Amino acid sequence: MKAFALYGKEDMRLEEMELPALERGALLLRVLACAVCGSDARMFFNGPTARYTLPIVLGHEFVAQVEAVGEGVDGYSVGDLVGANSVIPCMRCPACTSGKNNICYNQKLFGVHIPGGFAEYVYVPPQMVAVGGIVRLPAGVDLRAAALTEVLACCVHGLRQVGGVDPNDEVLIVGDGAVGLTFLQLALLAGARRVVTSGRRPRRRELATALGAHETIDAKQWSLADYARAHGLQPSLAIVAASSPEATAEALAVVRPGGRVLLFSGYLPGTSVPLDVNAVHYRETLIVGSIDSTLGDFHDAAALLPRLRMGELVTHAYPFAQTVSAFYSTREQDAVRVLVTMDQD
Ligand SMILES: [Zn+2]
Ligand SMILES: [Zn+2]
Repeated sequence: MKAFALYGKEDMRLEEMELPALERGALLLRVLACAVCGSDARMFFNGPTARYTLPIVLGHEFVAQVEAVGEGVDGYSVGDLVGANSVIPCMRCPACTSGKNNICYNQKLFGVHIPGGFAEYVYVPPQMVAVGGIVRLPAGVDLRAAALTEVLACCVHGLRQVGGVDPNDEVLIVGDGAVGLTFLQLALLAGARRVVTSGRRPRRRELATALGAHETIDAKQWSLADYARAHGLQPSLAIVAASSPEATAEALAVVRPGGRVLLFSGYLPGTSVPLDVNAVHYRETLIVGSIDSTLGDFHDAAALLPRLRMGELVTHAYPFAQTVSAFYSTREQDAVRVLVTMDQD
């Protein structure tokens, strides 16, 4: 099969790779589309980290069709439209046994430890099939939306981390990329009475408005504190979906007493943010992190797809042969999510 393998900083090559023989319990998927996640782009542009060994086929935001079903696998047929949770959990470690299989101590990730979706095929090891990490998607769901199931699952997880959203919530979403705009849709679906996004790019603010944001903040013009003061904004939940330590500090400062702050984005290694610990203490601020999604979150995300407008977050699409260009286009001003689509035959 053909796959794009990453060898180092901005060095990704199309190669002919051998597929493993289909083991008992495994699945072989034919990729239909794979989106470039911020984490893929970081691996491509920043070069290797200690997390993985090169070369690696990136990509965990893929939608695929079942191509072959290993012996002993029930519940899947050739041609099924499926998505995959990014984490392959062990189901035995303390995280897994307490229901937090997204932070499995022995986790393997598609596109980090095992070959991912920028390839014609993805081989799914028996362990992942056994735990239900490959999920059939609702019939009729658009391919662009389907490719973002994993993004949605991560956001479903993020909201679980802060106890959900309800109609009394005032939600501030810092960062209006694909993640921020997914949180926007989930907060609106939950009926939050005021949902405000903040970002620097006009195209994204337009998209936020089109998706129903009550207000959008031009972060080039306003600090969050100034905007909050001028517009009577007192978020009960602030979601940080931008890798900016400054924006994180601002979000911590504007959240109301008793409010929650969700740290969703990854930061550059070693990033720290000054924390007014007395403010956290006296105001009972809840600060919580979120990473990836549990198997349950992924199943819930698949079911939610028809109720959301995830496909609109895909602003650019490239054919498979131009995967490298797709990575570069993530840096374009008007890009939200960039998709690589396989040739349909
Ligand atoms: Zn991702
Ligand atoms: Zn585990």
